[in-house]
Amino acid sequence: MARDYYGTLGVAKDATPEQLKRAYRKLARELHPDVNPDAEAQSRFREVTAAYEVLSDPKKRQVVDLGGDPLGSGGGGGGGRDPFAGFGLGDIMDAFFGATGGGSGRGPRSRVQAGSDALIRLTLTLEECFTGVSRELTVDTAILCELCVGEGTREGSSPQVCDTCGGRGEIQSVQRSFLGQVVTARPCPVCHGLGEVIPDPCPKCTGEGRVRSRRTITVKVPAGVADGVRVRHAGQGEVGPGGGPAGDLYVEVEELAHDVFERDGADLHCTVHLPMTSAALGAVLPLETLDGTEDLPIEAGIQPDTELVLNGRGLPRLRSSGRIDGRGDLHIHLDVEIPTKLDERQIELLRELATLRGEEQPALATNGRGGLFSRLRSRHGR
Ligand SMILES: [Zn+2]
Ligand SMILES: [Zn+2]
Repeated sequence: MARDYYGTLGVAKDATPEQLKRAYRKLARELHPDVNPDAEAQSRFREVTAAYEVLSDPKKRQVVDLGGDPLGSGGGGGGGRDPFAGFGLGDIMDAFFGATGGGSGRGPRSRVQAGSDALIRLTLTLEECFTGVSRELTVDTAILCELCVGEGTREGSSPQVCDTCGGRGEIQSVQRSFLGQVVTARPCPVCHGLGEVIPDPCPKCTGEGRVRSRRTITVKVPAGVADGVRVRHAGQGEVGPGGGPAGDLYVEVEELAHDVFERDGADLHCTVHLPMTSAALGAVLPLETLDGTEDLPIEAGIQPDTELVLNGRGLPRLRSSGRIDGRGDLHIHLDVEIPTKLDERQIELLRELATLRGEEQPALATNGRGGLFSRLRSRHGR
């Protein structure tokens, strides 16, 4: 039993390729899985796509017109493979308009153009860069005009060949000069190089095929992003003139400086001020990390300018592929503070400590015989 491919697309048996394309495009806009996740819509989309594949191929269309079914060999239920399986709506539109636009080099340019990309800046704290965020953003953008589905024409009307240029999109003028004839071409001022005009434009978009709209979109920024990183949201930019495929939306991260941590890629650095006594006696420091408060043990006798490293306590390492590759480290720089103001009792205690340790006079490290330090020592009368 031959399938009714014309009926599936809703076109007459003598439909022109242009009419087929338009009918398919209209249905794809309603049924494409990107737009309509409904299971029934998806199975209809497959049928519609198969019908378009058959009817847009002159040989297969001939088979249909002779009462056969180019996809149903043996009458089995397998049906046609889906030529657009795995493609997004944007890819399909590219396949369509790429072909019409760049066919023969010269000639009218396509009314349908790809939309431009959009850029949004998003300010994030270090903690938000650590976890990643999902934000609702309101954007002012161009969306497809749903009244004409990008065609730009009023319902029931269609574009017409431009009288001024005869559909060529350009006007040639011939000038005689002493060099001979010079032919110059310039874009047709009436159709702006399109080769066609819309005598009865869509009342909603005035023929643009797209309208400005404010819409709310959810943007996702993965964990591990840093200042200046751009996250691409494919197909979320502006719809192009004539309902052309939408550009991409880029979200650029602006990272706020943190008051404790300094960032170096996925690694974090911070400085902890440690009293001299804690450095000598050892201590346990409660440290605020991105994972919560952690007890950092300081061993007795730790030296100034020591750097402690907590492995895996930095940020997720985000690769350009979007994959997370472990986490960076947290570097803790110890700054041992020597007291600058001492009361009498403290001076007494420190003196006593110095006596106990035999440090009443500083024992300077020598830098070899006759070096700077031994000269200093001799000046101090030792
Ligand atoms: Zn023209
Ligand atoms: Zn419109």
